[in-house]
Amino acid sequence: MISLEDAREYVLAGCRVSTPSVVALRAALGLVLAEEVVATESIPPFANTAVDGFAVRSADVAAAPVTLRVIGTLAAGAAFAHPVGAGEALRIMTGAPMPNGADAAVMVELTELSADGTTVHVSRSVEPGASVRNAGEDVRPGQLVFSPGVVLSAGHLGVLASLGRLSVLVHPRPRVGVISTGDELIEGDQPLLPGQIRDSNRHTLLAMLDQSGCVGVDLGLVRDNEADITAAIERAVGQCDALVTSGGVSMGAFDYVKVVLDRIGDMRWMQVAIKPAKPLAFGTVQGVPVFGLPGNPVSSMVSYELFARPALRKMMGFAPRAWMRAPVRAVADEAFVRRLDGKVHFNRVIATLEGDGRYHVRSAGGQGSHHLTAMANASALAVLPDGVGVAVGGNVDLLLL
Ligand code: AMP
Ligand code: MG
Repeated sequence: MISLEDAREYVLAGCRVSTPSVVALRAALGLVLAEEVVATESIPPFANTAVDGFAVRSADVAAAPVTLRVIGTLAAGAAFAHPVGAGEALRIMTGAPMPNGADAAVMVELTELSADGTTVHVSRSVEPGASVRNAGEDVRPGQLVFSPGVVLSAGHLGVLASLGRLSVLVHPRPRVGVISTGDELIEGDQPLLPGQIRDSNRHTLLAMLDQSGCVGVDLGLVRDNEADITAAIERAVGQCDALVTSGGVSMGAFDYVKVVLDRIGDMRWMQVAIKPAKPLAFGTVQGVPVFGLPGNPVSSMVSYELFARPALRKMMGFAPRAWMRAPVRAVADEAFVRRLDGKVHFNRVIATLEGDGRYHVRSAGGQGSHHLTAMANASALAVLPDGVGVAVGGNVDLLLL
């Protein structure tokens, strides 16, 4: 057996950061920026009012209460040609450009417009610059706004849009093929013949890829024979940036995935000191990373989580500290009993943030690698180092899913 850390290091070393490409803003959420975003414009582009009210000369309202002559009304999106003179005010709506002459805005709540609209009574004085948003206050032209490595959030996309950008250079979403292998597997709702089961792994893995920000490509079911598996993997690496297979990497007589990868790729078959998900095949075929995950439904998910997800995040340009989930220390609300076996166990647990500000955990159900329902209901994996487990009230590290 090799340690989780060594196995993961081997996998990560086989994956390279993807070449940046330009994508539309709408498709860029959660991706890693691959360019320096330098502002070509000011945000805001012009001085404008932060309130609905009146643009005034602050000197005119220093002795408030005062009455000023209203010279017009300005909506957001319009411009006003005439300057505001002494004793004058312009009725102005939030976002409208400040007219020349005025140096402050008075909010409508501090004013009273006359019945005929020709004068306004201002009840309080305002400082010069009050309620004015100056040009470039958020972003100045030439400013480095965002640097490569930033993970694009909704707000980042908004700033790009404010600068007139419709697309952005990012590390693109890898297209990742998913293949299930196994003679026992059938598709969908067909009746089960003796010995058959329904393929679940393809669906969980495609969903996990979506959650990781990748594009999952469903490449279907492949039978347990060398020729079919070879053809499927060769076809897959021709059209994908990475490939995830499930099944066929254990000790069974018909576990051909590892055999095929060994023959056509540069791969390593590993027995990782973890439970579940001990067997793992990883390698590259024609330069494309191939993750040969175990077939047991929980194992394939845990293996994806511990190996494929960090590797895909590396490919997507995330910083090394963001490849793995940071462990969170929690309190065991029940005992987690295990025995010494040289492996780190990843138990499926439900974690809840309690009033003491800490996560508390209890088992999510059956801990067999076929107990997919417990995995489905789990919100975290509890990391149980080799040993005899954790007593009630003890500390346990979690990977929050
Ligand atoms: P294997 O890794 O191929 O030896 O499979 C281990 C176990 O996982 C066996 O009980 C398989 O029937 C089961 N299994 C393999 N692939 C799938 C799949 N795609 N969906 C559900 N169960 C699977
Ligand atoms: Mg199999």
